Amino acid sequence: MKILVTGGAGYIGSHLVDRLLERGDEVYAIDNLSTGRISNIHHHLDADRFHFLNDTILNEALLDRLASDVDLVYHLAALVGVKYVVADPLAAIKTNVTGTEAVLGAAFKYWKKVVLASSSEIYGKSAKIPFYEEDDRVLGPTSVGRWSYSTSKAIDEHFAFAYAAKGLPVATVRFFNSYGPRLDEKGYGSVVANLVRQALKGEPLTVHGDGRQTRCFTYIDDTVEGTLLAGEVKAGEGLVFNIGAEAETTILELATTIKRLTGSRSEIVFVPYRDYYGEGFEDTRRRVPSIDRAKAVLGFVPKVKLEEGLTRTIAWCREHYTR
Ligand code: UDP
Repeated sequence: MKILVTGGAGYIGSHLVDRLLERGDEVYAIDNLSTGRISNIHHHLDADRFHFLNDTILNEALLDRLASDVDLVYHLAALVGVKYVVADPLAAIKTNVTGTEAVLGAAFKYWKKVVLASSSEIYGKSAKIPFYEEDDRVLGPTSVGRWSYSTSKAIDEHFAFAYAAKGLPVATVRFFNSYGPRLDEKGYGSVVANLVRQALKGEPLTVHGDGRQTRCFTYIDDTVEGTLLAGEVKAGEGLVFNIGAEAETTILELATTIKRLTGSRSEIVFVPYRDYYGEGFEDTRRRVPSIDRAKAVLGFVPKVKLEEGLTRTIAWCREHYTR
């Protein structure tokens, strides 16, 4: 198949590109390298079946040309990472809303299937655990910048449902805390990236708040597998899926595990949220997916346990993180 991956030089996008090329597809990757990096795809740049376009998804003429040519679109380009979003909510809203509108519009014109990447941020601070896809969303006030990301992704999902209602094949995947090689030291997935970098450098491991907030850390291979399946399985069209691991881990446990696996002598320190995010930040206390739907419809089964995934991630970080 010919496949377009928007955000193809990003952390998740580049792993998806690897898998698609491995299985023999021809891949077009578009990325403006805002958070994506050329080093993530640089091993494919000479390949005949790989075409990299250093451009933005706001370039409608380019999108039109690509959408007319490919069979399937994986739309991953977005401004992600809570810290980036808090720093520049305007950019997040523009990229995530206007960009997705452009991608879906181009796909609709040529009637091409789209897999839309969304986020577990959709659920906000809902306290009803686990999160089912049809659950209510619970968000804070609009004056808290963090919720703009959740809202922008919700608009994307509304766009997807609106086009699906017109018959376009669209499947949406909500990623839960993906981690693995190529995690940006400063960007998305910041807790794993931050703690590993700190442990390797012998700096204190910074745990925000009391460290008892939880996440379900999902190894990149499982994130990509769920995304691929959403593109392949016809029964998934018109639906949204949680793509995540089920094991719930506190941030303090994560820090302790990273400290042990790296053999670091760093101490673990507790840092108030405001020192990192500024005043008025609201965190999600627990975040756990139900993956019943993804299992039943897509056949998605996450495989990589946290310690194994962290071990692989740490090995990569040792090689690639600047000291
Ligand atoms: N966090 C932390 N130390 C760090 C970075 C993040 O304790 O150096 C916390 C953060 O406050 C949140 C959790 O780890 O409670 C996950 O943060 P991340 O930004 O990775 O993703 P989120 O799930 O919040 O989108």
